[in-house]
Amino acid sequence: MENSAGLRTWLDGMNLDHPLVIAGPCSAETEEQVLKIAHDLKDSDVNYFRAGIWKPRTRPGNFEGVGSIGLKWLKKVKEETGLKTATEVANKAHVELALENDVDLLWIGARSTVSPFIIQEIADALEGTDKIVLVKNPVNPDLALWLGGIERLYSKNIKNLGVIHRGFSTYEKTKYRNNPEWQLAIELQNKFPDLPLILDPSHITGKRDMIFDVSQMALDLNYDGLMIETHCDPDNAWSDAAQQVTPQSLKQIMRDLKIRKETD
Ligand code: PEP
Ligand code: MN
Repeated sequence: MENSAGLRTWLDGMNLDHPLVIAGPCSAETEEQVLKIAHDLKDSDVNYFRAGIWKPRTRPGNFEGVGSIGLKWLKKVKEETGLKTATEVANKAHVELALENDVDLLWIGARSTVSPFIIQEIADALEGTDKIVLVKNPVNPDLALWLGGIERLYSKNIKNLGVIHRGFSTYEKTKYRNNPEWQLAIELQNKFPDLPLILDPSHITGKRDMIFDVSQMALDLNYDGLMIETHCDPDNAWSDAAQQVTPQSLKQIMRDLKIRKETD
């Protein structure tokens, strides 16, 4: 992959007058919860409705996602609200099911980007797709793993690519759940300037009251979009409760952000 020319065609084609917004719950929990959030988000800047249905949890015994039934709920989201849909895929079976069920955007999670075997398996299963595929940074601050993921997908003729910056694990305690290490995302952006760069302030901060400030920092750095976990009852969410915002707060965040255009 010599350069990234042409990789932002899918984003430019959307002709947005605001950053790309991907929002929805960390996890799909019930059909009612998914549809309620989607309906609350339909008249907003949200472009893609996200919901994790296969959840990679660090330790077993936590809620690991509703599984493929969630794909039916995402179909209903699209039928009832017109929102496009997005979910995480972490192996070949997930990719096949997501493609069969017409999910519009697939993302690869931070725990998958660390594994070249898994990324290769996903890339093989996605070969030639025109779906949008976003690669989260790996959990550890290793730029080569992130680049390697992008390269493995690109070499399988997957052209509608982008990356999600969700911060990095660190042994030190910081105010963030995952340290942003902004310089790594900027290095990646310098290497592939056409590759859309999206911030995930939810997993970086781990706390809903920090989401606005970190999102503003990203827009000031000319990021292309935001992925923000949004839930109708955040405190009672089955995963990542502390970092999710309500649909109303998401809309307020979008109103308050100062959107910088490259031409400013
Ligand atoms: C998620 O988006 O809910 C998720 C599991 O993210 P990450 O892979 O960044 O931990
Ligand atoms: Mn989450």
